[in-house]
Amino acid sequence: MRYKNIGPMSTPDEIKAEIPLSQTALAIKAERDSDIRDVFENNSAKKILIIGPCSADKEDPVMKYMSRLAAINEKVKERLILIPRVYTNKPRTTGEGYKGMLHQPDTNEKPDMHKGIYSIRRLHKRVVEETGLTAADEMLYPENCRYLDDVLAYHAVGARSVENQGHRLVASAITEPVGMKNPTSGYINVMLNSINAAQMPHRFIFERNEVQTEGNPLAHAILRGAINQYGQNIPNYHYEDIIKLAKMYAEAKLKNPAVIVDCNHANSMKQWQEQPRIAKEVMHSAQKSEIINKIFKGLMIESYLMDGSQSETGTNYGQSITDACLGWKKTERLILEIADMVDKMSSSK
Ligand code: PEP
Ligand code: MN
Repeated sequence: MRYKNIGPMSTPDEIKAEIPLSQTALAIKAERDSDIRDVFENNSAKKILIIGPCSADKEDPVMKYMSRLAAINEKVKERLILIPRVYTNKPRTTGEGYKGMLHQPDTNEKPDMHKGIYSIRRLHKRVVEETGLTAADEMLYPENCRYLDDVLAYHAVGARSVENQGHRLVASAITEPVGMKNPTSGYINVMLNSINAAQMPHRFIFERNEVQTEGNPLAHAILRGAINQYGQNIPNYHYEDIIKLAKMYAEAKLKNPAVIVDCNHANSMKQWQEQPRIAKEVMHSAQKSEIINKIFKGLMIESYLMDGSQSETGTNYGQSITDACLGWKKTERLILEIADMVDKMSSSK
């Protein structure tokens, strides 16, 4: 085969022993897991905001962003559950470009995944211990899931992975909610099939063992918009899209029907500045329709310290090197506006 062995990786158990979570962090995680579960099980009228940079590219600006998020959390925590996006591995549409902190812990240096695993675990540990917020990450490589499973509040399966059996089987082993994105083609049935698969128990090979999973009743949908055969974006966040999803969900007889709406990616047509309008439109749809309010659990927003994006070698502090993001000022305003809108909703319980 055409590869050379660079070197062995530490196992998840070894890394966890080297970078253990504090008792405080474990307690924070248990409490937040329970609050988040209540939303997905329809026992809470709070909405979830999965919010933060497209990629957690550098520890310092990411931590600065997270501390600002923690401060605003104090103002909105009765109405919203803020789950920061600390996305440490990035899928690439063409295979080219930055693959995330896991691959490249220092964006000025060559890839180093041995170092990268330590960097991403340290970053997630810092986020929970310094901000009290447990984060979301993308499960891009299911075989890496146990490096972070004890610290994450939320796992996303991306649009390019959602049809993959390996992702679905490992999702069935995860305790926390797993959001299954619609595939880039936009096929809602593919996303629902993936949720069905993740909710079932499975037996398969994982980390060189034969394992039996329990199934994940908190696996749910994320609408992120689609791309057609001509490369054009087709949003799927509108009122009618969510009503249609609710109907298909009911027919599929899945547990805990739930959807998070991603305000960026194909939904914003990659126009980051459209995110506040889209977020408020979806909140408005939920205010109007009890069918939507019941299934709609929250929003995903790509946000960082600075508006927009820069090249991978750019030096602007806190500006995205992957998808363009909403800057902090606009983000702060939007979080407060969304919290106000939650107040105006008919509560689901
Ligand atoms: C992302 O959340 O940054 C992402 C890559 O999403 P998607 O899988 O929807 O493209
Ligand atoms: Mn993105």
